[in-house]
Amino acid sequence: MKRNQDWDSMKHTAFSYSFTPKEFYFFLFKKPKCPDCGEKMLRQKEYFSTRGAIPGTFTQEMASVNTKKVKYYYYTYTCPKCGKKYTLSELAK
Ligand SMILES: [Zn+2]
Repeated sequence: MKRNQDWDSMKHTAFSYSFTPKEFYFFLFKKPKCPDCGEKMLRQKEYFSTRGAIPGTFTQEMASVNTKKVKYYYYTYTCPKCGKKYTLSELAK
């Protein structure tokens, strides 16, 4: 994909959370344990940017919003014991 300097430096026009309904349920109700060693995992908030909204995520409320550059928050889980890192979507499968 061609790099776009203008897009890279522009401010986000909207933000959302890249949850699928299943991931959202997991996020709200589950306390994930490390699949490798069973330790309780630490949640971390991160984000990435996209052009336009991602279908199937929680973006309904953005129908009238400029989605030229959307900031998506997502969560990762890190094990404090063995250092393994998983995304919410990996754990919620
Ligand atoms: Zn672990």
